[in-house]
Amino acid sequence: MAKAIKIEGRAGIKLLRCPYCGHVFANQKQFLRHLLKSHNERIRKA
Ligand SMILES: [Zn+2]
Repeated sequence: MAKAIKIEGRAGIKLLRCPYCGHVFANQKQFLRHLLKSHNERIRKA
């Protein structure tokens, strides 16, 4: 499973960045949902 890139957003808010497309998410749950929805094939191959 791919790991999110952890970054700090404005006001020190921790965010997660998708390593495939660069989308940013506020929490792990949203990131995982995005992975399954948008990068499902890549995840299974990797
Ligand atoms: Zn993505």
